[in-house]
Amino acid sequence: MIDVRAIAVTRATRVREALAVLDRAASGILLLVDAGGRFERTITDGDLRRLLLEGHGLDATLQALPVMRSIVIDSAYSRRDALDLMNRHSINHLPVIDAAGHAVEVLERRAIDQQILLSVPHMGMAEREYVEEAFRSNWIAPLGPNVDAFERELAQAVGVGHAAALSSGTAAIHLALRLLGVGLGDRVFCSTLTFVASASPIVYQGAEPVFIDSEPHSWNMSAAALGRAFDAAVKAGRLPKAVVVVNLYGQSADLDPLRALCDRHGVPIVEDAAESLGARYKGRASGTGGRIGVFSFNGNKIITTSGGGMLVSDDAALVERARFLATQARDPAPHYQHSEIGYNYRMSNILAGVGRGQLKVLDERVRARREVFERYREGLADLSELAWMPEPEWSFSTRWLTACTLDPRSTRMSAQEFVARLGAELIEARPLWKPMHLQPLFAHCEYFSHGDASVSDRLFASGLCLPSGSNLSGAQQQRVIDTMRSILRGG
Ligand SMILES: *Cc1c(COP(=O)(O)O)cnc(C)c1O
Repeated sequence: MIDVRAIAVTRATRVREALAVLDRAASGILLLVDAGGRFERTITDGDLRRLLLEGHGLDATLQALPVMRSIVIDSAYSRRDALDLMNRHSINHLPVIDAAGHAVEVLERRAIDQQILLSVPHMGMAEREYVEEAFRSNWIAPLGPNVDAFERELAQAVGVGHAAALSSGTAAIHLALRLLGVGLGDRVFCSTLTFVASASPIVYQGAEPVFIDSEPHSWNMSAAALGRAFDAAVKAGRLPKAVVVVNLYGQSADLDPLRALCDRHGVPIVEDAAESLGARYKGRASGTGGRIGVFSFNGNKIITTSGGGMLVSDDAALVERARFLATQARDPAPHYQHSEIGYNYRMSNILAGVGRGQLKVLDERVRARREVFERYREGLADLSELAWMPEPEWSFSTRWLTACTLDPRSTRMSAQEFVARLGAELIEARPLWKPMHLQPLFAHCEYFSHGDASVSDRLFASGLCLPSGSNLSGAQQQRVIDTMRSILRGG
């Protein structure tokens, strides 16, 4: 940080002294102030050079410097305002001027231009080697030894019988529904508080989603709401073909009561564990509690292949059929023969190499994300208007994203406004997922709430996710914490 007093000069300062100060401070800029210490203009080494070229000697004073209005910002600035101003005027230094006209700070571009993102990829040591092996052996095609090994290694890591590596988590959910016979006119129950990819494959199959609310203890599917949805389905004589249970932000749903309901009606569960690889439910790996489980390796997930997904199940025939459908449903014939419709959904051998390397560091990544969560909770413990996403005793969450709610009664600010204020400080926070039953796309779909009031509506209105990457540095996180406190406490 630049010490503003060390770079302040007056019109009485000699050029020689000004050059020496500039050299000593290595600030790239001087501040010309008047006798009262009020800021007048900035001085660069170019300004001093021009004085010399105009024939003013080293012993001349700065009296000859032209009067000029410098670009400045007032002390209520946001980082984004400051950066916009620097960009607009192609400058790298920006004095901050208080109400009395004094320079209180000089912002430097390289210190300001630092965006903190929600969740970014975090490579380990081994990915490159697996990818290079794919190049060495020319296994660049989809499929290949990395794909087979990634499937085996992931199945082993989560303790499931079989796994099929796919091009995305969305593709995995789509195949899961297809495998369970979901088709035209069918209904599928689905968690409402989720990313759209949990539900869109239902529509791909020509089926209709019915959305189920969250319960307040895990923010995941409510057994009370699911029970009422089943009661209504029984009454209407239209049971769903499947139930998509989502594990939100790295935390498993409370599966036992959900499974009891589904078993009673003979309806299989697709566990959307796209966000919860590495989490556990009552000691059991997340993603292995339903008939079929789904993981995602999208760029923002806890481990990534840049894009990819995995479908897992203990049913070998089901997973084998997933691989068949994912490679254009090609019949076992020497010529190209097809008896049913398939997809091009397999993962490439290169990306599977990235996945193998990432899987090796999964436990470290989970630990790091949980630590990020703890640092937020401890660092902001005094702000009672913040409540953290709960972790029930049966859950081991990965804390993929640190999620919290802002009590609207004790702040004058909505979660949306808070997210926007953080954004102005170049901190990427996000509102919680907008529930599916509130999406224009699904406005016509049926919805069952947890109780009289909808839990997911309340969470959406008050919740947000904070930067949570496993590679978030201590200094970055401290900046988020300090900024949050200063916004909430009007600093
Ligand atoms: C990311 C995500 C998906 C989709 O995974 P992709 O690999 O991006 O297709 C599905 N469901 C949830 C809950 C997700 O967060």
